[in-house]
Amino acid sequence: VRHFGQVARVPGDPILGLLEHFRADPNPAKLDLGVGVYKDAAGRTPIPRAVKLAEQRLSDSEQSKSYVGGHGDPLFAEGLLRLVLGHQSAVLGAGRAGCTQAPGGTGALRLAGEFIARCLPGRAIWLSQPTWPIHETLFAAAGLEVRHYPYVGVDNRFDIEGMLAQLGRVPSGDVVLLHACCHNPTGFDLSPADWRRVLEVVRARELLPLFDFAYQGFGDGLEQDAWAVRLFSEALPEVLVTSSCSKNFGLYRERTGALIAIAADAEGLQDVRSQLAAHARNLWSTPPSHGAAVVGLILGDDTLRGCWQNELDGMRRRVAGLRMGLVEALRTYGLAQRFAHIAEQRGMFSYTGLSAAQVLRLRAEDGVYLLETGRANVAGLDAERLDQLAAAIARVVT
Ligand code: PLP
Repeated sequence: VRHFGQVARVPGDPILGLLEHFRADPNPAKLDLGVGVYKDAAGRTPIPRAVKLAEQRLSDSEQSKSYVGGHGDPLFAEGLLRLVLGHQSAVLGAGRAGCTQAPGGTGALRLAGEFIARCLPGRAIWLSQPTWPIHETLFAAAGLEVRHYPYVGVDNRFDIEGMLAQLGRVPSGDVVLLHACCHNPTGFDLSPADWRRVLEVVRARELLPLFDFAYQGFGDGLEQDAWAVRLFSEALPEVLVTSSCSKNFGLYRERTGALIAIAADAEGLQDVRSQLAAHARNLWSTPPSHGAAVVGLILGDDTLRGCWQNELDGMRRRVAGLRMGLVEALRTYGLAQRFAHIAEQRGMFSYTGLSAAQVLRLRAEDGVYLLETGRANVAGLDAERLDQLAAAIARVVT
């Protein structure tokens, strides 16, 4: 008997497929702007020094590999709650926020999806159009109805009016997913005034906000990037936040993240946490330990924390500098105005506004690999070759 005879083959992840094409390309001047990982000037995805130091300490001090608890490492939870909600957070002071460790931001999102599907039945989840593609499949896999609000207009500009108009029509009680900062894939972030308007709609429509916070420290800084999460957390009784340590701690493969739940009071929080632990048990039992132990050590030690923050600031400044540099390089071709948005966007990604046809020409003629949606990973740019890239862009757009 062939049990697997009827199993259909599905296409692989298009971003990883792009990476394979990149690797096979013999062009020595090729440039990978596809995969969403940070890269330094040498094109490497580094392990921060603070992570290395914490790992050394850990290898000396670790006494057991027995399971961690269902909510994960308490030191990690304490550090992460303060990192996300702030040291002065009234919500933390009132015992209304709890941290459940998960395998990466993806695991945290999946747990959030499971919690919503099981404990808040009948609620749809609203995603920005476009969003990180895994949002679409992950929440559907959890059994949620997935719907969309506009985010980018036809002119490749952030469409705050379209977003607000749609959120104003969302059925009361539904969940709205918001990118806390460094929107993936577009790089367009809301201004403080925009966030206040969204908060009012969320409050008026009685929606449950779920923040995806995967790039804290990559936008304007650790504290600045948490501004919207903190605004909503202090203003509303209930908020969910998924935090990822993949990018800002460089811990990608260690699968380090958390779901932070904020409830109306400390009692209610314990009800929610009991559910989160029960659902996590079905999904992955208990979370992986190593990355969270590293983050807990760094956040709990002033020296390690300072070292980490400096390095993260360096990553943020490198990406911001590349954005400005590319727009400057495009000025030579009279294209600075047309691509000014690249310098205004935040985080690693840019919706460049290049069409699929232009992207394919860049790939074929210049070995420049970005996604067909026009999304580029700015961290993949080479500061020494911005003029060359600008010339290639000028060729395909004019
Ligand atoms: N959310 C967004 C918007 C992302 O871009 C990513 C990673 O690319 C994640 C969540 C999840 O990251 P991880 O599961 O690697 O921590």
